[in-house]
This record gives sequence, structure tokens and C-alpha cells, in this order.
Amino acid sequence: MNSEVYTNLKKMIDVNTPIIYIHDYDFTRVDFLLKQALGGATEIREWSPALGYQRIFRDDEGFLQRDKCLNGEKTELTDVLQIWLNKTKVKTEYLLLRDIQDEIETPKVKSLLQMIAQRKLYDLDFELTIFLNSSVNVVPKEIEKYVSFLEIPYPNEYEIKDLIREHVETNGYEAFDENAIDALMPSLKGLSLFEIDRMLDMAMSSGGTLTKEDKEMILRHKKQMVKKSGVLELVDSPENIDSIGGLKNLKEYLRKKSGVIKRIGEAIKAKVAVPKGVFIVGMPGCGKSLCAKATATLFESPLLKLDMGSLMGKYQGESEKNLRQAIKIAEAAAPCILWIDEIEKAFTGVGGSEVLTRMFGYFLSWLQEKTSSVYVIATANNAANLPPELKRKGRFDEIFYVDLPKEEERKQIFEVHLRKRDKHGINISDALVKATDGFNGADIESVVNEAVEDCFVNNQTFTDSVLLDFAKKTVSISKSCKTQIDEMNKIFKESNFKTA
Ligand code: ATP
Repeated sequence: MNSEVYTNLKKMIDVNTPIIYIHDYDFTRVDFLLKQALGGATEIREWSPALGYQRIFRDDEGFLQRDKCLNGEKTELTDVLQIWLNKTKVKTEYLLLRDIQDEIETPKVKSLLQMIAQRKLYDLDFELTIFLNSSVNVVPKEIEKYVSFLEIPYPNEYEIKDLIREHVETNGYEAFDENAIDALMPSLKGLSLFEIDRMLDMAMSSGGTLTKEDKEMILRHKKQMVKKSGVLELVDSPENIDSIGGLKNLKEYLRKKSGVIKRIGEAIKAKVAVPKGVFIVGMPGCGKSLCAKATATLFESPLLKLDMGSLMGKYQGESEKNLRQAIKIAEAAAPCILWIDEIEKAFTGVGGSEVLTRMFGYFLSWLQEKTSSVYVIATANNAANLPPELKRKGRFDEIFYVDLPKEEERKQIFEVHLRKRDKHGINISDALVKATDGFNGADIESVVNEAVEDCFVNNQTFTDSVLLDFAKKTVSISKSCKTQIDEMNKIFKESNFKTA
């Protein structure tokens, strides 16, 4: 593990931090970290809902072992905390509380933790350090001020290569081809050493060497990881670039980027800049979300949707932590696409709120400094109140503006939706194209849907004139939301975004 982690952990212990939070689901890795950082003959007491109260110690061969303390699993967390609080003298001891996200919300546990932390700060005879280790990040605000958070970065390229070498040597496998390792590297990043070891074992047992299928297996594993995390939604969509009518420039742009993303290992070696992402703003129902979904298929990458609204937590500081966690998970799931839908909803109030300003600052600097293969697609309707920093160069590679479709684009959108419903050979007449002036993609889709349904119900042959009838009956977005659409048009004309 990265030596910086040990240094940071030791520093936190040395400066008398009462509670150290280790947010990591890989408990074996945390055991190892504590064993290394605390060194020597140190014993740790541990409490978890599953195993109760235990002592962790090293056996004669240096391996970590556990045995029960008191009456083991029958001991409640509150009893354990009370025992420690009642001690008159505690000389350099450690208590590891694992997976206590449910218990930590109860008033008694909160209060006991607060009292222990206070004693640690003011009583020189009370040297108890508490480690909280959980895969779910829950720290109530009453306790937050006593807690330092230890970030555990994922293994870097060198550490992964070392592990692969070690894995090959200890298992007596044939050495992996360097090119196969380079191709696999972006997928292995974001996994713990323990997981990489497991992945390599599975890969080897399925064919004796690393292949494209192994890359897919790793991606499947990462998808599971995202699902379990709960902060991001994994979107599985069949849409592809041919499901988009019009938006020629944007499609061409994405196709080019896919050439880099799909060979990211080689691209990095050839010093090609890792694509950061694209910002798509524009009219509602014109294909922004569709583009995000189609890009995932084009890039052959998982699509992780970040809902800014659900990030806002009930505890102070929780929203920030959630954002950090979402980004950490996206980095872990890389190569992937992080789709931030309706980004304007989250960042419009920046400046007015301290929390939002901090979150925005964190997000911007992550975006700017990002080197991982997380491709960001941000989508927004309203570009009016977006902070200008978001639009500055260096954040996104490009900003595209999606307008209401022009004649030729409307024709293509009709073709896409007719094809989807197996209505081939239908003539898209000039009259139909003209009648749909001011329609967005969603309006056109609805015309097709209604026409298809109507013909089915009435056992009628499907023709372009049925489409025209429904088009004439449809109130387009330009009519139903005229003021907003006019306003958006004005704003986009003034901006210098690229036309999609
Ligand atoms: P909003 O800003 O309201 O979220 P959006 O721009 O993200 O809208 P989408 O959700 O992508 O719009 O589009 C809604 C539906 O309209 C899509 O599912 C798709 O079927 C259809 N549609 C929109 N634009 C296009 C297009 N250019 N080509 C084909 N279908 C389209």
C-alpha cells in the first residue's frame, strides 16, 4: 500500500486524534494497514455487529488472529464503550469499531463516543484511539469534529505491476505479455490489491493468460461495485450512436474520442491527452440524455449517472462527502462515463451557499486535474446561471449546444423512430418536415408513437399521411413553453458554444 497512507495514519495518531475514520470496504486491507502502521506487539480491540467484541493480536509467526473478549458476541457496543470510558488510566490502546453505521446513529452511542473523544483530548491519562472502519460513510455531526478521515488511494500503476509480477512468480504462471498488461491497466486501476489478486486468479484459471474477456470480467465486477455503493446509478441502455437523429458535429466528435478511449492504454503510452469530457447544454427533449446513453455504447464503457439532488444529505458536510465518494467510486470504476444530469440544478446557487461553493470548487479541481479514464458528460438545459468557471477551457474538452432540430435533422429523427418500430420504407414528406417546425426530438417520437398505436388499434395501414395528421394535432414544445424556449434561444445565441 502507498507509503503516504501509513505516514498520514501515523501523523493522525501522533497528534492525538480521538477518532480516525477509515472509509474502506476491504477489511483485510484495513487490518493489514493497521498492522503495519501500529507495528510491533500492539493489540487492537475490535467490535462489530457480526462478531461482537474481540481481541486482534499477532501469533508467533506474525499473522493476525482474533479471540473473544469478555463474553464476545453477547457484548453490546454501548457496554464496550462504557467499559473504556470507566477506565481510570489507558496507556496507548486502540479500539477498532467496524461497520457500526446503524449503531452510530443511536443517541447512547453518539454520546459515549463524544465523551470518550473529549477525555482523549483533555485527560493525559487516557490514550485511547478509536478507528471507525466501514464501507458506508456515516458520521453524525455531533461526532464529526473529533474525527479525522483517512483517505486510502487505490494502488498506482507501479504497485499493480509489482503485484502482477508477484502473482506470476508465486503461482508459477507464464509471464504476462506487457501489451496485455498495458491494455488491462486502466481497468485494474481503482481496484484494491486484494481484488486485483482475485481478478488475476480468475483470469488465469479461465485460460492461462490475460484476454479481452478478462477485461470484460473486470468491468462486470466494477459494475457490481457501483451498484452496491448506492451513490451512483448504473444506467444500462441499448441506445447507440445510430439512435440519434441529427447532431452531426457532436456525433462526429464522440466517434473520434471513442478511438482514444477504447485504446486508452496505448493512447497514454503515445502521449495522447486523456479525454476529460464534454458538456452538452440545450433545449429540453433534444437528445442530451440520449447522447450520454449512446456514448456509453460507443465507448464500450459503463454509464454512471450522478443525481446531484440525491447527493444533498441531512447532515452538515454530508453532501460534500457524498460527492467525494461518488467521484471516488467513478474513479474506481474507470474506464467509465460519469454522467452528471442537470448539472445546473446543483451548481446554480454557487456563491450563496458555503457548502455548495466548496462542493463546486472540489468538483472543478477534480475535473481539471483528473488523469483517470473517467469520461464526464455533463448535461444542462439552463445555461443562464451556470458559474462561468464551469465553461472555462481546461474543465471540459468541449461545450456543445443542442438546438431544436432543423428540417434535415427532423427527417432523420423520424427515420430513427420509424426504424425502431419496424416501419421501413415510409416516405418522410416535405409537408411532414414543415409541419413539425419547432418540434423537439421527444415531440417527434411522440408523433410516431401515437401514429403507430392508432394504426394498430384501428387495423389501419401505416402511412406518412397518418404521421402528418398526428403532427398537426401535436402542440410542440416551442408552443407549450414558448417563453422559456425564446429565453433559452437568446442565451445560446449570445454564448459561443459549438453547435451540436
Ligand atoms: P431534458 O433536457 O428534458 O432531459 P434531453 O435533451 O436530455 O431532455 P432526451 O431525454 O435525450 O432529451 O430525449 C427524450 C426522448 O426524445 C429520447 O428518448 C428520444 O427518444 C427522443 N429524442 C430526442 N432527441 C432525439 C434525437 N436527436 N434523435 C432521436 N431521438 C431523439
